[in-house]
Amino acid sequence: MEQKAVSLVKVNKVYDSLLESLRLIDGLGGLSPDDQILIKPNIVSWDFELPFPPFGVVTTSALVEGLVRILAENGFNRITIGEGSLPNLSPKGQEVYRALGYDKLAERYGVKLVDFNEEEFVEVDYGDGFKLDIARHVLEADKIINVPVLKSHNQVKVSLGIKNLKGCLSKEAKQFCHGLGEEDLSLTFPRIIEKLPVALTVIDGIFTLEKGPGPTGKAYRKDLFIASRDPFAADLAGTVVMGYEPGEVDYLVYYARRHRYSLDLADYELRGEDPYRHRAYVDYDWEWTEDNTGPKGFARQGITGLAIRKYDSSLCTGCSVQYNPMLILMSSAFKGKPFPNVEIVTGKGQLASPGFDYSVLFGKCACHLNKDNPNIKNAVKIWGCPPDMERFVAKMAEIGIECNYREYIRFRHYLFNRYKKEEGYDLDYWTVK
Ligand code: SF4
Repeated sequence: MEQKAVSLVKVNKVYDSLLESLRLIDGLGGLSPDDQILIKPNIVSWDFELPFPPFGVVTTSALVEGLVRILAENGFNRITIGEGSLPNLSPKGQEVYRALGYDKLAERYGVKLVDFNEEEFVEVDYGDGFKLDIARHVLEADKIINVPVLKSHNQVKVSLGIKNLKGCLSKEAKQFCHGLGEEDLSLTFPRIIEKLPVALTVIDGIFTLEKGPGPTGKAYRKDLFIASRDPFAADLAGTVVMGYEPGEVDYLVYYARRHRYSLDLADYELRGEDPYRHRAYVDYDWEWTEDNTGPKGFARQGITGLAIRKYDSSLCTGCSVQYNPMLILMSSAFKGKPFPNVEIVTGKGQLASPGFDYSVLFGKCACHLNKDNPNIKNAVKIWGCPPDMERFVAKMAEIGIECNYREYIRFRHYLFNRYKKEEGYDLDYWTVK
């Protein structure tokens, strides 16, 4: 029964609350001190150049520190922390770990810090022709402790423990997971866990994130830990707390069907706080115009002559991270006059439509897909995987669209500064004292 028990604990002092979360589900019960333990936080991205608000985006170092301390106090001394952040952070993984204070955990507890992007990847055969390249350190772990964030996701609604394991894949395997049809994101990433020994999931809900998974979303204080020895049970409870019906989250439906799980939280043993008392909707979606010409905010600005097709789930993280800068840059180019009849398509499934004077193909995938598209009058190809934004600005200038990169920098400062006015947004959560 412990296996399907889920604890919800209100966070007061991180270490004490974590201890209580684990006590309620016998969280260390599936682990042996001899085990090689891998802790997998969520450090999807970071930034050393522009301000980066980690609230609701990156697992708090306070939680990771608490976990390491509890493990050490229980005789575990073979602990690794590993993550495979966005490729643009490679080879900066160790720098990111230093920024998060993990170097102190290495000094104090002998924790090994591994950047999966610098590791060897091993092909793992899942059967039915489904294969993924997984970091060697992940496969060598006896047990994995998964420490995701309680966040929404603009493509799959929620991003919790099962999704967090995508960070264990090679760049190519991550891209493969953002496929079309049978290879849709909600059908691929839930399979990663099938070959991984995940023994414990602790969802970091000190903050939760609306319109995630990146820092363009808005974070809120939530002060909750959700823990389970069963990865699905943890995700199910997290989903309910975020205000979604499990049946409307495709990956949960797929996983439940595949592994014969119930989607009803009442079928699991809940310990600690009542999840329904903490339930509050965390929106995942960026609103677009009905005719799919751009974000609603663009229509409100009075932008015409431009159609930016809404991202779909085939847009992988690399392009997703550039998507928002692209929007800000296009908005910066609007000076009250219509754009010169331009369409922008992205990802692996968007074909340029007829009737536009310029078709902007954003990223390698859109360029390949539209190679022979007869609808295109003038193709503006932004190659790259993901595309480079300086190149984007230069290519736009060639067709008379003057983007202002300073607007993007201003926007990044705004994203960071909006938390300064609010109580409880303390960057100390991402340090180790
Ligand atoms: S071009 Fe973009 S969508 Fe295509 S594989 Fe690269 S990052 Fe993913």
